[in-house]
Amino acid sequence: MISDRLSAVTTRFETMKPRVYIETFGCQMNVADTERAATGLRSSGYDLCDSVDEADVVLLNTCSVREKAERKVYTRIGEVRAARSGKQDVLVGVMGCVAQLEGASVFDHAPSVDMVIGTRATDRIPLLIERARGGERKLLDLDERGETDSWDVSPAERHSPHVAFIPIIEGCNKFCSFCIVPYSRGRERSRPASEIVAEVKNLQALGYKEIQLIGQNVNSYRPRVDDGLEGFKGATPFCRLLRAVAATGMPRIKFTTSFPRDFHPDIVTAIDENPNLCDWIHLPVQSGSDRILKLMRRGHTRNDYWQRIERIKSSSRRLALTSDIIVGFPGETDEDFCQTLDLVRQCEYDSIYIFKYSKRAGTPAANFTDTVPEKEKTARFLALEEAQRKTQERIYRSYVGRTLQVLVEKQSTRSEHDLSGHSTCNKVVNFAGDRSLEGEIVNVTVTAAKTNSLYGALVNRSAVE
Ligand code: SF4
Repeated sequence: MISDRLSAVTTRFETMKPRVYIETFGCQMNVADTERAATGLRSSGYDLCDSVDEADVVLLNTCSVREKAERKVYTRIGEVRAARSGKQDVLVGVMGCVAQLEGASVFDHAPSVDMVIGTRATDRIPLLIERARGGERKLLDLDERGETDSWDVSPAERHSPHVAFIPIIEGCNKFCSFCIVPYSRGRERSRPASEIVAEVKNLQALGYKEIQLIGQNVNSYRPRVDDGLEGFKGATPFCRLLRAVAATGMPRIKFTTSFPRDFHPDIVTAIDENPNLCDWIHLPVQSGSDRILKLMRRGHTRNDYWQRIERIKSSSRRLALTSDIIVGFPGETDEDFCQTLDLVRQCEYDSIYIFKYSKRAGTPAANFTDTVPEKEKTARFLALEEAQRKTQERIYRSYVGRTLQVLVEKQSTRSEHDLSGHSTCNKVVNFAGDRSLEGEIVNVTVTAAKTNSLYGALVNRSAVE
C-alpha cells in the first residue's frame, strides 16, 4: 500500500513541477515564515498553489499558543487526507510551532504526516521535500538556522502588495510563566540593521507604502554587531533601528509587539521626531495586579507599566494604544481582577485583546492550580469587555469629523462599493471609492464610528507620498 503511494507520488513529481500548498495559522511571524518558505520553494523549482485539491505537497504552518489551536492541527491533517482520499496522493508536512514543540510525537498522533519541520528549518524545506520525494518517510528537522540562511522574500510571495512584514527579531528570552513561545521559537536572535534597512529600501522601490517591523518583542532588539546603527549613540538599539528605518523615507512604519520591561522612552521620542513612524503602540500588560504580574513572571510592576503609558500619552501626537489581557490566571482573586479593570480604564486603550486563561502544557503555569472556575473567568471576561466597550466607543466617536490618512488595502468585505484600509493609528477605515485607489494613501474624513472600525468619506484623490 505504502509502496503504491510512493510510486504514485514519484511518478507525478517526475513529470511535472510539484505544486505546494501552504496553510498558515497564528501570528504575523508565521505569515512571514510562510512568505520565506514560499520564496525558497519557488526558487527551488516548485510551484505554489491555492488549495489542497491542486497540491502535491501540503504544508501546515502551525500555531501552538493555545492548546485548542494545537488540537485543530490534527483535525486539519485528517481533513487534508480525507479531501485527497482516492485521488492522487500528497505529501503532508507540519511546520511552525507545533512541529518544533511536538517533534517526532506528531508522527504518533498523525501517522500520515511525512515531514515535521521546526521553526528554524524554513530554509531546508525544499531539501526535506526532495528527500520525501526520494522515498524517505517521517523526516524530522528541529535544528537551528544555518549561518547562511536567508531572510529574502520575493514580492510575489508577500501577503499583500501594499503592506510588508519584516521580522527584525525572533524568539523570546522572557519566559513569562503562561507562555510557550520561548520553547517553540527559541532564544532571541536579532537581524543585522543593515539587512533590515536594505529590505525596507527594496520594498519602497517596489511601491510598498507600509512596513511592519515584527517580532515577539521588537524593543528587545539587540543585533550582535552595530552594522547599520551608526546614528544616535546612547539610544537603545531598537530606537536607533526605528530612526534608521524612518530615514529611508518609507511612508508608513509600524512595529509590534512591544514588551513593557524593554519599552524605553526613547521610542516615543523617535516617533515624535519622525512623522512616518506611525501613531500606534501595542503594549501588552496582561494584568493590573502586581501579585499576578509576579506569578506571570512578567518582570514589571503595574507602576513600571503606567510610567511607560504616561510617556506614550505625553507624545506630541495622540498615539493609539492597544494591549493584551489575561483574565482568570491561577490565583487571580476578585481584588486582583478589580485592579486589572481599574488599569484598563486608566490606560484608555483604543482596543484590547482579552483572553480567558487556559492551561498550556509545557509552561511553568501549567503546574499552578487553576483556581478560577470557568464561569468566573467568563464573568471577568464580560466585565472587562464591557468596561473597554465604553472607553472604545468614546475614543472611536472622537474621530468623527477628523481627517485620517488611510492606506487603501482592498475592497471591503461588507460592500462592493466600499474600500477598506488602515489609518496610521491602525484603525480599520471603510469608505466609498473606486478600486483604482488600492495601494494609495488617501485622506478620509470620518463620518461614523462603529464598534471596531470607522466609516468615512474620501476627501480627495491626491495620494500622500
Ligand atoms: S514576552 Fe512573555 S508573553 Fe511575550 S512571547 Fe515572551 S514569554 Fe511570551
